[in-house]
Amino acid sequence: MAHAALVVRPFWPLALVHKALVAIFFVAFGAATHAADYTGPLFDAHLHYNEEAWDGKTGPHPPSDVLARMKASGVRAIVANSRPNTGSLALAALPEVRAAGVAVVPFVRLYRNRADYTGWFADETIYDMVLAELAKGTGSGPYRGIGEFHLYDSANADGPVAKKLMALAEQRSLVVLAHVDDAAIDLLMANTPSKGQKVSLIWAHTGIGGASVERVDALMGRYPGLVGELSYRPGLGCDGEQLCPAWRALLLKYPTRFVIGSDTWVNQRWQYYESLMKGYRTWLGGLPADVARKVAWDNGAGLFGLPAPAPAR
Ligand SMILES: [Zn+2]
Repeated sequence: MAHAALVVRPFWPLALVHKALVAIFFVAFGAATHAADYTGPLFDAHLHYNEEAWDGKTGPHPPSDVLARMKASGVRAIVANSRPNTGSLALAALPEVRAAGVAVVPFVRLYRNRADYTGWFADETIYDMVLAELAKGTGSGPYRGIGEFHLYDSANADGPVAKKLMALAEQRSLVVLAHVDDAAIDLLMANTPSKGQKVSLIWAHTGIGGASVERVDALMGRYPGLVGELSYRPGLGCDGEQLCPAWRALLLKYPTRFVIGSDTWVNQRWQYYESLMKGYRTWLGGLPADVARKVAWDNGAGLFGLPAPAPAR
């Protein structure tokens, strides 16, 4: 500050001198209060590689494009799922992905097409498709989870196929990725043999419909395998692109229970992939370093037993 003040020449008009001093003050103040961005590895725990991104031949986001975006963003592991499953299977089998040091954790998507979004919970052919996919596996080894699935009416968590899939997830140690409201979390958990005490469920958007922080806290306390994924979560961000105080307190209370994700559900999310990840790095940088590392990487890696990433290539 003392050095900077020297460049304010005495013949400057007083107003300019004042402006310069204010600017210098803000630079110094800003540097002291804004933590640096988190710079470690990222685990993208909610990624889609749908057919409109790339249909296997043409498309705006072929594997080379999405891989370049992951590398530019420091993303070293992804939960991959897609409509239909061919997209994530392609990523899982691609030598370039492995060579880049990006670990693919494949999930079976329940959707062959858009029509499946609204009826999967009662559609036996989807249950059969899931079993067939699980039997086949992927180029990155066995599938590790089921989803993302949606429930627009939480009562459908009690649909016959939803019940069977939740039981299957617990029996085969498959992680569930679910975009549902808080009422559906209770219903889905009740449909597992352990009543939600042994299954792992990544809660996409951690209550996008606006479940209160207190309600999320209560569910976290009730189900030890509930993991909150934070894309699109309303109320998360406050001034300076940092976490709002209530969310910051919740992440500090459950540092091992939150993950981040891109949710590339439409191509626009791929176009902004790097800036989405930059946004996470900004608020992660405002957390204590050990908590930031857990939310960014350790929690996702731990869920699937991934080793620490090798130095980026
Ligand atoms: Zn999604």
